[in-house]
Amino acid sequence: MTATHAFWLAGREATGDATFDVTNSYDGRLVGKVSVPTDAQVEEAVAAAYAVRDEFAATPAHVRAKALNHVADRLTERTEEIAQLISAENGKPIKWARGEVGRAVSVFRFAAEEARRFNGGEAQRLDTDAGGTGRLALTRRIPHGVVLGIAPFNFPLNLSAHKVAPAIAVGAPIILKPAPATPISSLILGELLAETDLPAGSWSVLTVPNDRMPALVQDERLPVISFTGSGPVGYAIMDSVPRKHCTLELGGNGAAVVLGDWASEEDLDWAATRIATFSNYQGGQSCISVQRVIADASVYERLLPKIVAAVEAQVTGDPADDATDVGPLVSEDAAKRVESWVDEAVAAGASLLAGGKREGATYAPTVLADVPADVTISCEEVFGPVLTVKKVDGEAEAFAAVNDSKYGLQAGVFTHDLQTAFRAHRALEVGGVVIGDVPSYRADQMPYGGAKQSGVGREGVRYAMDDYTYERVLVLTGL
Ligand code: NAD
Repeated sequence: MTATHAFWLAGREATGDATFDVTNSYDGRLVGKVSVPTDAQVEEAVAAAYAVRDEFAATPAHVRAKALNHVADRLTERTEEIAQLISAENGKPIKWARGEVGRAVSVFRFAAEEARRFNGGEAQRLDTDAGGTGRLALTRRIPHGVVLGIAPFNFPLNLSAHKVAPAIAVGAPIILKPAPATPISSLILGELLAETDLPAGSWSVLTVPNDRMPALVQDERLPVISFTGSGPVGYAIMDSVPRKHCTLELGGNGAAVVLGDWASEEDLDWAATRIATFSNYQGGQSCISVQRVIADASVYERLLPKIVAAVEAQVTGDPADDATDVGPLVSEDAAKRVESWVDEAVAAGASLLAGGKREGATYAPTVLADVPADVTISCEEVFGPVLTVKKVDGEAEAFAAVNDSKYGLQAGVFTHDLQTAFRAHRALEVGGVVIGDVPSYRADQMPYGGAKQSGVGREGVRYAMDDYTYERVLVLTGL
């Protein structure tokens, strides 16, 4: 019999009066049953977090750093087991799932380091005007209060880590709500947090169904909402609570630009390999996946066959298999949606150069060229293993094409030229520009988030710590 996973209520295991199933989208098998908290249990967790907020904010930095390092140590020890769970619940190829656990370890390590140096504050002289003579200002960052962290399915451990670790680092209680398709890795994170000395009430992991989330979102005892997921859900949350501090990490349709100076065989081989890998890793279900390739006309004809060959070399199959590059999407419905967008583009005149086939929840790595500007795949985030290729004339046209999107998460620019790199940094309307590589590069300490409809606020451990806190000034008089 499959075990039922408990949720975590104010630091202790608990079960409710209902369960839901988590299944593997590759073969349909049951991965686990997950218990659902009752309304009374959700209330208990919120009340406990609210009650402990001052005590937690006052917890010494070394205590919080020790807890964060403990989680990093235990994630390291349990890497293989947790990677297999992520792979099973998410459909992610096992090699990428191992990488995800490694990144979550880094997030907890960075948070432990930042917990020690955060909030040193600064002193500011006020005797710059006569009225300030004998006065000094000191600043400290204070948590807004309890954080509600809402995580997506695509990096179920690491994006939960990006909510939880910064909250602990600043001493803000957190209630984590994992995605319904992939809650088990967050519940394992709860196991590791339960081994620490963090105060009871300072953290909960609650598997609340989506239809009961509005009440939690509205709760005034939770002044910070850190959301990662789709735009419609994120903006609906923010619109429903305009007075809360909302961080929204939303979607994108990442562009990789290949400019005319990126022209040697070696250059183009590297670009093609990186593009093929990072339009397909996670089945394309990454917010910084390569969805659009924008190539200068001078390299386009040589680059295109290399991309097609590299995409066709991607190994599709069972996510549990070490050799698999591309597993299933999160559900068969998701794969059918991607299929319908590709079919729409082809019917409107796009050329299908690779892929274009679906088997259950798995969609074959796909390349489209000559895609009309008004079809869905040209305008929306595909969140599947599909890339479109476009030919442009020169840098200005390439950068305009990147910006011709409602999204702006990250962009990659293949160029050797330093001045071009600076111009790209200035011109591209995105949260991050990666030179010499695809947009899909993310280090967990760097500021990460979107421009335009890709989001509001920043993650990346220290930047989330800023978002979870506010500056409070202390003015001293008579000095
Ligand atoms: P989603 O919007 O469907 O769900 C995200 C989370 O919101 C889940 O936990 C879900 O249960 C919860 N949710 C759903 N309805 C809710 C409601 N009414 N109130 C409160 N919470 C609710 O997104 P998803 O399908 O899990 O994730 C995919 C999306 O996430 C993609 O658009 C992707 O680009 C985006 N994403 C962005 C980043 C980033 O950092 N910018 C990272 C990863 C994923």
